[in-house]
Amino acid sequence: MTDLTADATVSARPGAADRNPAAPGGGRTVAAVVPPSLVARLAAGVTAAGEPDLVETVAPLTGERLAALPRSTPGDVEVAYELARRAQPAWAALPVRRRAAVLLRFHDLLLKRQDEVLDLVQAETGKARLHAFEEVLAVAMAARHYGRAAHGYLRDKRHGGALPLLTHAVEARRPKGVIGHISPWNYPLELSVGDALPAFVAGNAVVNKPDTQTALTALWARELLIEAGLPADLWQIVIGDGPVVGPAVVEHADYVSFTGSTRTGREVAQRAAARLVGASLELGGKNAMLVLADADLDRAAEGAVRACFSSAGQLCISIERLLVHRAVADEFLAKFAARTRALRLGGGLAYGADMGSLVSVRQLDATTRHVEEAVKAGATVVAGGRARPDLGPFFHEPTILDGVTPEMAVCTEETFGPVVSVYRFDTEDEAVAVANATPYGLNSSVWTKELRRGRAIAARLRTGTVNVNEAYAAAYGSVGSPMGGMGESGLGRRHGAEGILRFTEAQTIAGQRVMPLAPSFGLDDRQFAAVFTGGLRVLKALRFK
Ligand code: NAD
Repeated sequence: MTDLTADATVSARPGAADRNPAAPGGGRTVAAVVPPSLVARLAAGVTAAGEPDLVETVAPLTGERLAALPRSTPGDVEVAYELARRAQPAWAALPVRRRAAVLLRFHDLLLKRQDEVLDLVQAETGKARLHAFEEVLAVAMAARHYGRAAHGYLRDKRHGGALPLLTHAVEARRPKGVIGHISPWNYPLELSVGDALPAFVAGNAVVNKPDTQTALTALWARELLIEAGLPADLWQIVIGDGPVVGPAVVEHADYVSFTGSTRTGREVAQRAAARLVGASLELGGKNAMLVLADADLDRAAEGAVRACFSSAGQLCISIERLLVHRAVADEFLAKFAARTRALRLGGGLAYGADMGSLVSVRQLDATTRHVEEAVKAGATVVAGGRARPDLGPFFHEPTILDGVTPEMAVCTEETFGPVVSVYRFDTEDEAVAVANATPYGLNSSVWTKELRRGRAIAARLRTGTVNVNEAYAAAYGSVGSPMGGMGESGLGRRHGAEGILRFTEAQTIAGQRVMPLAPSFGLDDRQFAAVFTGGLRVLKALRFK
């Protein structure tokens, strides 16, 4: 494989001062950190029993072959469900605290062995190490939160019964059984294990179909969770083509947790609906950031860089529309563009690069198409705008477009690449209207010196998360609070109470004492109705809920 050190130390060419500089390399190659022995060890974790039918992945940083992995068939998916179903009851019978202890041990192991998975995430996605570390952060936070809080979320809750003192009702939470969990390639650690942790601690088993491109990361996380104490059969991993293996995963699931595009999400939802099983769908976005006239423009420009170019824009909550108050637009844009042009691109397996590669030729083509079409139709490139094959096959510069109009695809469609368009507004009402003028509703960001004003605007934005004076991490990292999408960005929420209770069935157990809720003690029907009518009036007057 190509020596990334050599590759990544290409410096900005003289005469090309507007090009993003290359970050220093890391001295290690993808081949060295993902040797065949590691691939073979991890591949043993795939549920795929038949003839060895291999599916190959490519290292985005170099374009060379990364791994050949066994491909699961729909029959293998059935086997995975059988194994998971057999293992689940014993796991569900453990006290919640015993299950939670596995998450807390996993937290510690992950922090200790993070370098192993940072290498894998970089090798499979091509993202910068800092952005790979965001996944470690997110997963550790989720492990700590559900490790500590699951008991509270899942414990039995008493409710006021039908008749005070005479009826007692308890709400219990039962695991769904086996969760079908389908995840994409863009955050392979967070979206495979991070979303599975609350399912496990709630007493479920999981059959997970990660994207093939990033299956090694999911398989590594599975090994680590087993080391932390998870029974091995409880987490089955199947891999293969989405349209073949994905439907098979939905076909047998007691509940479906899906993260991916809105297009696939609709299909998954239809299949789940036909079987009358629930589904949570974490889908795409066309997220807006609002920079108000009173914003701290330096902080907002820094924030915009993170918001738009983390993981090279392949982040569902990243910002693709930048709405700036006209009074500060030029000043803000100058600051933002200068920072964007200075971002160091690189594929070294070490910290140092500000942005890495895109994951595939598909993402590069989609990004290039949006930029080229917009420029052809009259948009201006303020920064970036070009692919960077000198750094690796799928690199693209972080790109700012101005003069984008509604007919251009980049204005309305999710790019899922390092491209942001700038729009100017005159009033708050106009900014809110433009931000909401999309079928999506995932994330937004508001920058103002007045927190109260930021919150008031947030209340008018139709997105599942709103970050005030931060790009996306404040809301996403607040793992006790729900995160997810409105509109075409999804159904259901991860994190917080909703993020774990979706993996449970509510069961109400109610008992009755002394008298039934029916005519008794010699009352005929009319007398019973009269007594209970009076009783209901009294209960309301006494403010019973
Ligand atoms: P995708 O929909 O193509 O694939 C997602 C997963 O679904 C993959 O594992 C894929 O193999 C599988 N799949 C494909 N066809 C299927 C089918 N017919 N039935 C069942 N499963 C099938 O999405 P992608 O391109 O891999 O991911 C990028 C998208 O994911 C973007 O739109 C992004 O915004 C979204 N995303 C959303 C969130 C969120 O939390 N809202 C997080 C990350 C990514």
